[in-house]
Amino acid sequence: MYTETEGIILKQINTVNGRRMLHLFSRKFGKISAGTGISERSRSKAGLAMRPFTYGRYELYKGRETYNINSAEAIRSYYRIGEDVDKYMHASYVLELVDKLTVEEHSFPQLFNLTLAFLSAMEERKKKYGTLVLAFELKALKLMGIEPRLDACVVCGAQIGSPAGKEDGGSPENPPAAETESTVLFSIPEGGIICGDCAKKTPHQDGGQLIYSLNTGIVDILRYFVNNPMKNIEKLGLDDGLFREIHTIVKAYMEHHLGIGKLKSEDFIGDS
Ligand SMILES: [Zn+2]
Repeated sequence: MYTETEGIILKQINTVNGRRMLHLFSRKFGKISAGTGISERSRSKAGLAMRPFTYGRYELYKGRETYNINSAEAIRSYYRIGEDVDKYMHASYVLELVDKLTVEEHSFPQLFNLTLAFLSAMEERKKKYGTLVLAFELKALKLMGIEPRLDACVVCGAQIGSPAGKEDGGSPENPPAAETESTVLFSIPEGGIICGDCAKKTPHQDGGQLIYSLNTGIVDILRYFVNNPMKNIEKLGLDDGLFREIHTIVKAYMEHHLGIGKLKSEDFIGDS
């Protein structure tokens, strides 16, 4: 059966006789494994679409077991990601993460669109690549329906929020920073924040039992990332201290709720 779909190549593995196996994140079918003989080194139209960080249109033949990519063309190449090694590694990490978050042949168009928005924002970005990765992670958790609860206590349901309201987390020029900051607990196993009353009844040490003490300013940032489109985050960069704190929590959260441990490209994700 012949078919075609838009897609992003997540992973390429060389096999024999110049053939390669790909993980293609397709808009129509979700992630699929596909073989191809088209080389990314080729200067042909199809070759260009096989390069990393390309949004392309792929013509597929579906056999009994696998797909074969017969032909391809680039819709948009985010080639400038490849011009900076740090940028390249951060974007590679996100594609590796998408590969882990997706199940073969389950379409997930929202995650597909988020990945494109991420690649586009990353291509334009000059620094603070890690901030964009954190925003991607939190937004992907939301699309999967397992984002942390940040507006109410996960134990008793009492509202906890910035007085200005839960959707108001600042603007790109004025990133959320609460004037009246206090501390709340964030429980990774419970999946969100815990109010003061419940905190008194929750025995914990900071960082122990995967419970962290968080400044409400950080909760506001998390909320901002979860609730706003990638383009609002394009120009936002976290300072190193904030980045490390949020990175630690998001990492532990994904490990606990998704079973995603260390990824190969992760060693390079250490800066804001
Ligand atoms: Zn409570």
